[in-house]
Amino acid sequence: MVEKILVATDGSDHAEKAVALASLIAASTDAAIHIVHVTLDGAPSEELQRMAEVEDIVSDVQKAEPQLNNVPGSVVEMIKWARRNAMNEKIMAAIAERVIDSASAAAKKAGAKKVETETLSGNPATAIVDAAKRAGCDMIVMGSRGLGDLKGLMVGSVSHKVANMAACTCVTVK
Ligand code: ATP
Ligand code: MG
Repeated sequence: MVEKILVATDGSDHAEKAVALASLIAASTDAAIHIVHVTLDGAPSEELQRMAEVEDIVSDVQKAEPQLNNVPGSVVEMIKWARRNAMNEKIMAAIAERVIDSASAAAKKAGAKKVETETLSGNPATAIVDAAKRAGCDMIVMGSRGLGDLKGLMVGSVSHKVANMAACTCVTVK
């Protein structure tokens, strides 16, 4: 029996597939779903650029922070500028909120009834494994890759480490 499923999302298309599978299992078994996102403080700007919604997110932060309107160039340049000017936290918090809200809405739409969410910080793999233990999850679902730009058949470093460290069943979605 699966009673509680942790699904980890970095906001990538791969993680979206993980949310879909976890929601499907939750909806058909009545299991609870625990969605976690580890803030992307250390992620390179180019990785964030791969997130479909990042331009919208940055423009929301721009509205609240008029100084950002004077930064010329691409979203990547703007994120780099925000990092140099101590605005990284605001951008990462806005990204975290958007990632969690969209995963939670997708899970509910897919029929999951018990949906919890949690935003974490620190090393993503350790934070995910600790969260699964703390929340009493008996399954972890992740994407095989994330926002990184890995080529070939390898799985990403976060899903690889989680699968090695976790005490419960881990599913990496391809
Ligand atoms: P790498 O990060 O090693 O360059 P990658 O980004 O392609 O490669 P991973 O980061 O391992 O691959 O991502 C695989 C899966 O791990 C994602 O689909 C997601 O389920 C989970 N994951 C990765 N980063 C996070 C995060 N910051 N918060 C929550 N889940 C994450
Ligand atoms: Mg990654």
